[in-house]
Amino acid sequence: MARVYNWQLGREMDYPYQEQHPKWQFVFVFNTNRCIGCQTCTMACKSTWTFSKGQEYMFWNNVESKPYGGYPHYWDVRLLQMIEELNPGGQSWNTRARSEKAPYGRFEGMTIFEAVKKYMGPEQKRVLGYLPSDIDWTAPNIYEDTAAAPAWAKGQYGVTTELPEHKIWYFYLARICNHCTYPGCLAACPRQAIYKRPEDGVVLIDQNRCRGYRKCVEGCPYKKAMYRPTTRTSEKCIACFPRLEGRDPELTPDGTPIEPRCMAACVGKIRLSGMVQIDDNGDWVKDPENPMYFLIRERRVALPLYPQFGTEPNGYYIPPRWVPRGYLIQMFGPGVDAAIEQYMCPDRELLAVLQLFRVTQQMLFKFKIEQGPKVAEVPVRMPDGKEKIQEIYNDTVIGYNRKGQEVVRITVEEPTYERPKEVHLNSI
Ligand code: SF4
Ligand code: SF4
Repeated sequence: MARVYNWQLGREMDYPYQEQHPKWQFVFVFNTNRCIGCQTCTMACKSTWTFSKGQEYMFWNNVESKPYGGYPHYWDVRLLQMIEELNPGGQSWNTRARSEKAPYGRFEGMTIFEAVKKYMGPEQKRVLGYLPSDIDWTAPNIYEDTAAAPAWAKGQYGVTTELPEHKIWYFYLARICNHCTYPGCLAACPRQAIYKRPEDGVVLIDQNRCRGYRKCVEGCPYKKAMYRPTTRTSEKCIACFPRLEGRDPELTPDGTPIEPRCMAACVGKIRLSGMVQIDDNGDWVKDPENPMYFLIRERRVALPLYPQFGTEPNGYYIPPRWVPRGYLIQMFGPGVDAAIEQYMCPDRELLAVLQLFRVTQQMLFKFKIEQGPKVAEVPVRMPDGKEKIQEIYNDTVIGYNRKGQEVVRITVEEPTYERPKEVHLNSI
């Protein structure tokens, strides 16, 4: 095993291959506070990539109701349990070790590449994981809208919708492949059929090399590699790479990158994807005017999904405000409190950048803000119970594509238009 640096864990870790990094990395931010569970993203993906024979059960994009839902069923609980059994009580974070290179502190527990060394089983594994059964892949949306209700169990009623934590809660977790920096699927593949593209970090399965051993299905902690019985190969989300390359003749005749289908279709406007530049050491090149860098590295308002698994996933989530913190910290790491505080009372810059979600299909590489007048002061009750005043400015945020061309300009206050009654007979 080689030693590689995982910034989400704030330390080096074991990985079967030496560090090698793409020039750019595809990343995305999902704002769980806004997801309405409509599954438009799921169907946008399904109708584009997985509508053929042998792909019936495949949902490269899925949206599950947490805490009980999951596709395949209980994918996260099962892996968390497996690691806990091998490292009882040890999956902890040292948040005092926070630094620029370790923004969430240092993870003191074991990743799937480390815990596997303690695994005793009939066969040797490179990555700790399990192969879901056929039953696990049935019912992609089981437990939809099923809430955790510990308060009801204790006979407490009427306290369900008070912040900072609802006593009865659920939330929607939208998921695609995380195009991880250290993919579990790639590490587990004995055929070296899985690779990470140097130009955008997208993780792909070479269909000619794959022999369908399903080691990737076992090794992906997020269970986003899926087996296709008709071709006897595994398949997975390809981040709609022809769109990232600007090869859609209708939408990008000039070759500028556009976002994947699931992002572009999102009704709740929860999704924003982009690219960040990576240097030779694997560090993100400092670029606070890139919306993705700003949200993830500068403001840390969006956090990785189960960073403790160790794959350095490139999908980031703004955590849901109302959910018990212990659950969220297990899912998104120790940055949860700071992220929620910022999101509840964003300053003018963050509020402006949050407007960029789903205002264009073009991938945004840069933003600028033009300052506008102050339009409101709103009292906000923070998680610690104290009141804070949010000042709202009607700033204009401008988004630029890869070529540096302005592609969107939007104000914080939604503009309203009055239809002149001389032209529109039904105007009031
Ligand atoms: S999410 Fe899973 S399938 Fe996607 S790159 Fe990471 S390990 Fe591989
Ligand atoms: S389309 Fe958007 S809002 Fe609807 S389920 Fe998907 S992520 Fe959530």
